[in-house]
Amino acid sequence: MRDGFRCVHCESRHGIQAHHIFRRVTFPEGKYELGNGITLCRVCHKLLHSEFNRRPH
Ligand SMILES: [Zn+2]
Ligand SMILES: [Zn+2]
Repeated sequence: MRDGFRCVHCESRHGIQAHHIFRRVTFPEGKYELGNGITLCRVCHKLLHSEFNRRPH
């Protein structure tokens, strides 16, 4: 809700999901540090996991 139901990465509203573990390396500006989760679309979410740990939540 805080992210306006949009992917914080590409602003897509399609297939949005919550990613629960914040990773500083993804958003170095620290913009989303206060949350315990971020909103990502399915595409960006999948990309993030394949790049960082290859594991689900
Ligand atoms: Zn996205
Ligand atoms: Zn995730």
